[in-house]
Amino acid sequence: MKAMVLEKYGSPLKLKEVPSPEPGEREILIKVSACGVCRTDLHIVDQELDGANLPLILGHQIVGKVEKLGRGANRFKVGERVGAPWLGNSCHTCEFCTSNRENLCDKPTFTGYTKNGGFAEYACVHEDYLLNIPDHYDDLHAAPLLCAGLIGYRALKLCEAKKSIGFYGFGSSAHLLIQVAINFGLDVYVFTRPGDEKKQKFALSMGAKWAGGSNQMPPILLDGTIIFAPTGDLYVSALKASKKGSKVISAGIHMSDIPSFPYSLLWGERSISSVANLTREDGKEFMEHVLKSPIECIISSFKLEDANEALDAIYKGSVDGSVVLTLQ
Ligand SMILES: [Zn+2]
Ligand SMILES: [Zn+2]
Repeated sequence: MKAMVLEKYGSPLKLKEVPSPEPGEREILIKVSACGVCRTDLHIVDQELDGANLPLILGHQIVGKVEKLGRGANRFKVGERVGAPWLGNSCHTCEFCTSNRENLCDKPTFTGYTKNGGFAEYACVHEDYLLNIPDHYDDLHAAPLLCAGLIGYRALKLCEAKKSIGFYGFGSSAHLLIQVAINFGLDVYVFTRPGDEKKQKFALSMGAKWAGGSNQMPPILLDGTIIFAPTGDLYVSALKASKKGSKVISAGIHMSDIPSFPYSLLWGERSISSVANLTREDGKEFMEHVLKSPIECIISSFKLEDANEALDAIYKGSVDGSVVLTLQ
């Protein structure tokens, strides 16, 4: 099969012919038709995360059809459409798995990180971790739901904002989550890179109540904030923009160091936290939510062999919405 392979950290992915994977016990071989590109993929390429073994096929927002069933797999039929998210398996025995927190599993499998992912014509994923996708999304527009959408959804729930919420960064995840937040009855305040009027306009067009630079204060103090951009300084900005008792949640897997800040910013029961991975339950709940209250995915699509350009578009923030590889 054709695959874009990461052979060396910090260097472009290479188009290669590699053997198609064979589905193992209860695994499913997916014929990939679309795969979302995520900032996490950039963190892996840049070796900011240390869980990967090279060579590796990235990609953890896979949409495709079931091509072949591994031994014992019976949840899906050949030809059925499935979605594969970031969490590819969990151990079922650690203290986290046994307390409904498989997102924190000690021995997890992550698609496109600890195991080959979907920047390829075929990928294998354990059937229990696959998701059904609402029919009204075509494959390309469904792909960003699988990480940008559902890990963002987990962050939104953990944030517990009552009336207003701030988003720092307005990329793939934020453009989906603003729609969910508005469905939840929240007013959304969006912070972009200072001076990025194009992104601010995009945020306003998606229903933001206010948009400005991350160096600005919002017109009101916020009930909660989510940080989507991988910049530690933003925790300090977000705390300054936060009401007493509110939470600042980072939705990213990696960010630069958080600078020291005065305790008075945290005082008043403000708290800071991260969101890590997802549970199968999050995935199911999110898909049910978008079935009832559809949200629009705005995408730019790239061919598989143009995956490096796709990664670059995320790095530069040069496209609005989500970036998806197409194999159709
Ligand atoms: Zn992701
Ligand atoms: Zn576990």
